[in-house]
Amino acid sequence: MTVFYKKLNELPKEMSGFIHMAGALADEMGINAYVVGGFVRDIFLGVKNFDVDLVVEGDGIAFASECARELDLKLVSHKRFGTATLHGLRGFKVDIASARREIYEKPAALPVVFKGHIKDDLFRRDFTVNAMAISINKHRFGQLVDFYDGHSDLKTGVIRALHANSFIDDPTRILRAVRFEQRFDFKIDKATLSWIKSAVRRKMLHKVQKHRLRDELILMFKESLPLKSLRRLWGLAGFSYIAPSLRFQKEWQRFFEEAAKKAGWFEEHFSHKRHLEPYVMYMSLFFYPLAHKELSQAMRDFAFHKGESSRILSFRENFTRVEKELSKKNVRGSVVYRIFEPLSYEVALLSAALSKSVLVLKRAQDFLFVYNGQRIHVKGEDLKRLGVKPGPHFKNILDELLYAKIDGEVKDKEEELALAQKLIQK
Ligand code: ATP
Repeated sequence: MTVFYKKLNELPKEMSGFIHMAGALADEMGINAYVVGGFVRDIFLGVKNFDVDLVVEGDGIAFASECARELDLKLVSHKRFGTATLHGLRGFKVDIASARREIYEKPAALPVVFKGHIKDDLFRRDFTVNAMAISINKHRFGQLVDFYDGHSDLKTGVIRALHANSFIDDPTRILRAVRFEQRFDFKIDKATLSWIKSAVRRKMLHKVQKHRLRDELILMFKESLPLKSLRRLWGLAGFSYIAPSLRFQKEWQRFFEEAAKKAGWFEEHFSHKRHLEPYVMYMSLFFYPLAHKELSQAMRDFAFHKGESSRILSFRENFTRVEKELSKKNVRGSVVYRIFEPLSYEVALLSAALSKSVLVLKRAQDFLFVYNGQRIHVKGEDLKRLGVKPGPHFKNILDELLYAKIDGEVKDKEEELALAQKLIQK
């Protein structure tokens, strides 16, 4: 029996302390408890993981409630799934579940779930490297539970599904196989590859619920090098289950690199402005080749969150115009401002990244460094004093004053007020 208590003790102090406490509590309740899944995989890979997954052979919610009581934590439980999440631990989160057995009655549909043992719980998982557990009860603390040789696959860098039906049961695992393979520079095992191909031939990816596919796609775009996964996915399964006309584009290599560079540049200079979401930039690139109608359809079918779909659509709708307007010579600062201001930072940066003209990049920089922070002195109160009634006109005047300031036509409050008066008389 291989024992890895050292690995658990080497985790950040609070995390390791929590795991010991949870093990002692499981002893008191007379149940077996384990850390499982990606958390265990990452312990062996030496990768930081702040999502601790616990499984107990017993009532997961009751166990989670005891943990919450003991440590005075916030508990969110999901009765339907028998799972719970503990919040309030410093720097990490804990998900707790009851060990379960799953039966897939219909391909690509959600399984029927029964209470089970740890072996069942590990068998329902996607790949051997994600199907290991480590005991945390005191007398077995650190014992590896590895029925499917995940530890050996981890050492040799293999992504192996647990059985031939895995991708028929849950086709989203195809995307997961690709994502883990590319993230860790592993190789999908030969038999697993043939099971994937067979599920693809049976068009299983067309049958799975679209929102589940969407969630896996988003995770793929959140990887640090998403294009690697997209290329591999294209080779294995194409993209027709996402949109019929979508193809892998040769230019993506350059586009994704440029987008990553611009995102890095933004983080370096403007991380205080807003947290940038590079994955939305990559998704915008991915969907750009689609005609507007097909793109809108895909956004609806997959029920992308508003924040994502609005930026993806915005890039599709605005890039050509932004590029055309901003690659002209002699464009006033206020025009640059008016073009970029309504766009998200992701769309603005991506436009700059993709444009053939360096002028667009230069203007995006001017916008971010200078224009975006410009403020005028005149306030609504000042306009009221000049006799303007609140209404749409109000905003128009304030906007005009800001444009004038950006273009260097007014320098101080006095000049702004003089211009405001002229605008009022118009
Ligand atoms: P990441 O490092 O990307 O967060 P993870 O392995 O922690 O990866 P999660 O999606 O958080 O992935 O899932 C946790 C665990 O649940 C996985 O390690 C795996 O054991 C199991 N799992 C998740 N999704 C599936 C699935 N579709 N089919 C089977 N098992 C799954």
